[in-house]
Amino acid sequence: MNIILIGPPGAGKGTQGDNLVKDFDLFKISTGELLRKEVEKQSDLGIEIKHIIEQGLLASDKIINNLIELVLSNNNYSNRLIFDGYPRNLSQVKSLSKLMKKYNQKISCVFNLKVDRNTIVKRILGRQVCSRCGLTFNEFFNPSNTDNHVCDLKFLQKRSDDNEETILKRFETYLKDTLPIINYYRDQRLLEEIDGMSNIATIYAKIRSIISSLET
Ligand code: AMP
Repeated sequence: MNIILIGPPGAGKGTQGDNLVKDFDLFKISTGELLRKEVEKQSDLGIEIKHIIEQGLLASDKIINNLIELVLSNNNYSNRLIFDGYPRNLSQVKSLSKLMKKYNQKISCVFNLKVDRNTIVKRILGRQVCSRCGLTFNEFFNPSNTDNHVCDLKFLQKRSDDNEETILKRFETYLKDTLPIINYYRDQRLLEEIDGMSNIATIYAKIRSIISSLET
């Protein structure tokens, strides 16, 4: 099965995707992470992407579609993907639909994590990402500890776009570009609305039970 996680920045898509990977035989693909890897390379493309990310805008559909086609054309991932942060506008929805047909795959379910703007700002300001294992924590709501994380605390980092100014721009981009895709997936009868304001475990229990019901 292929799953899509939609929601505003800070909704918990990455965290819930990581949880799903532990319980199901699935791979998480985060377009944000793929773009940040390109930025780390300091290539010309990486420098261009860095500016876009820091302005809270979306990378071009061409860049994103190339990244996604590389993933979808890999047989190891076939029908085993969790998309975190993709698609993010209607044009990406259309490209994904074409690629799904081309590689003989389908979307099983789209989760929309609903979180209000104030909560998003609080969550993003506390976000910490481990540069060693890639897991995401929150210094206020979900701190790294010896039960949930094996790496040393020195690997925890803040993302450069997790500042108050960029968060608000990212939220505006979400309202303008990403919200319209929710109606599309609702019409396709693939949408599951999830209250993303609850705690991580409660949200995950809901998502997990829906996915388990899809499998049977
Ligand atoms: P995220 O890690 O999902 O919060 O994404 C961080 C940033 O990467 C976003 O604010 C965008 O600038 C860019 N980005 C991530 N995914 C996409 C996408 N599907 N399309 C365009 N830009 C993206």
